Amino acid sequence: MKGIAVSKGVAIGKAYLLDSTKFCIIKHQLNELEAEKEVERFREAIEKTKLQMSEIKKRAKVIADKYAVILDTYSLLLDDDILVNDTIDNIKKFQTNAEWALTQTLNNFLKLFDNINDDYLKGKKDDLDLLVQTILKNLIGHSQESLSDIKESVIIVTHALTPADTLMMPRNFVKGLATEAGGKTSHVGIFAAALGIPAITGIKGLTSDINSGDQIIVDGIGGEVIINPSKENLHHYRKKQENYRIYEERLLTNIHQSAETLDGHPVQLLANIESSKEVASLQKFGAEGVGLYRTEYLYLAANSLPGERELYENFKLIVQEMNSRVVVIRTLDIGMDKQLSDNNSDEDNPALGLRGIRYSLAYPQLLIDQLKAILRASLYGNVKILYPMISSATEIIQANQILEKAKSELRRDQIPFNEKIEVGAMIETPAAVICIDHILAEVDFISIGTNDLIQYLLAVDRTNENVAHLYQPFHPSVLRALKSVMQSAENAGKSVSICGELGSDPMATMLLLGLGKLDDLSMEPHSVPKVKKIIRTIRLEEAKTLADNVLEMKCPDKIEAFITHEMMSRFPEDFDRDLSFEEKSVSSENDQHVI
Ligand code: PEP
Ligand code: MG
Repeated sequence: MKGIAVSKGVAIGKAYLLDSTKFCIIKHQLNELEAEKEVERFREAIEKTKLQMSEIKKRAKVIADKYAVILDTYSLLLDDDILVNDTIDNIKKFQTNAEWALTQTLNNFLKLFDNINDDYLKGKKDDLDLLVQTILKNLIGHSQESLSDIKESVIIVTHALTPADTLMMPRNFVKGLATEAGGKTSHVGIFAAALGIPAITGIKGLTSDINSGDQIIVDGIGGEVIINPSKENLHHYRKKQENYRIYEERLLTNIHQSAETLDGHPVQLLANIESSKEVASLQKFGAEGVGLYRTEYLYLAANSLPGERELYENFKLIVQEMNSRVVVIRTLDIGMDKQLSDNNSDEDNPALGLRGIRYSLAYPQLLIDQLKAILRASLYGNVKILYPMISSATEIIQANQILEKAKSELRRDQIPFNEKIEVGAMIETPAAVICIDHILAEVDFISIGTNDLIQYLLAVDRTNENVAHLYQPFHPSVLRALKSVMQSAENAGKSVSICGELGSDPMATMLLLGLGKLDDLSMEPHSVPKVKKIIRTIRLEEAKTLADNVLEMKCPDKIEAFITHEMMSRFPEDFDRDLSFEEKSVSSENDQHVI
């Protein structure tokens, strides 16, 4: 059976059929009074679902920030008046039970989606379907087979996997996932990829053809599920599974090697983290330090603002764990899509509002607490301070004045810290790019936040799905901005890091190196081995030629196609999803030296 491969790898094992069918909803006729009560019952189910979603989101952050962001879609749909109000209207108009009324609302929506020919929006249809199933479960008070009861290795097969399901899953025992619902962008893929579980979504008719206990193969590379495979099939997929395992293992063998081009140019590969819990896994992927600690999750997960002591304990833990390796701690980057729960400010345009350093400067005590905590932790290792959302040198000067105040308070209290602590600025606004020379004069290093830089340069909201196709990392404006920032940093003799998602994308590695001075790349830890492999396989001169060619090009699409073609022909094993791992063996003697 064919579906969409959303998380790489091959799983072979016993199927575990979970809650395989959708609910069969029966219409009950009510009287007027009963219908009123039914509206209340429906509202309660919505509130319960909202609570579940926010609880799940908190826990999801521990798995991956990206995964938690996906869950926002569900919360937004729950807040959507149409879904809730239409259902309430249906309950009143038809005087029926909430389950039936909600199903009617869903069906009307799904009909609208059927006329849309867009993969991304089709993914949203699955999100909506999934959310309605969750609300129905809450209405019915349904308790499904408990996933936590699974005590042996299985492959989960189901119509749709809810976010709640994914968090309840005993991860040691779940070897693969296959679902009927879900598209390319569904949360299942991000969840599975974060945990390294092979997964396929969008397989029509899956659950009617599989029984619990059947032997199945989930090929997360080719996007196929094979039920009760023949001996030959089994042999073929075992080989594919083994080849993929060898490939992954080989990637990991480079973890102790430095990321250096064939002509001897080193790049330090660091990790982006959101929680102290992630530190333990950094060594496994060969990250040489922490290039970006997003501290806002300490605030978002807490019920009250963490004080200096709590922050210090947290930072100290990470710094000690990292030994003498660098830990770049970013001061609070709150605002836009990361709002504090007690924030009542009602900004029309939060992306252009009180966010990042603006927020910290508006609440200086908050910044003092953070800076004192960072300073105190600096005694235990190699700590640097990073200010987010800088748009002028003035903001750095003001923040540094607060830093001086924090230092003098510590001196007064005879608390030791590293007097020579380095300070850096995130370069993520067009203003910072244009006045980069002013900014460089105030800091020891810069770190380019491509996520926001792309958003602000291209005037494309990074969280708005309607303009997702315009969010183009390979846009010439982005590439020119990067080149000019790197050139200015080189002239000023200051170090440059890239800590946005673009730095995690192996497809972009060669181009980024070719654009100019690049000392560090900070990324999702699991991307480190592949990015390192690419760096160790190329010459800086080749990367420069590639970048020069790209800088001549006008259209983002053409640039992307050009880069894709270049990278796929240079690294077929790493970028060609369908051809790899089939018949050929991945270990050939010729390429041993490159890793
Ligand atoms: C960025 O903007 O690229 C960045 C790294 O910061 P964040 O994603 O946390 O805004
Ligand atoms: Mg940013």
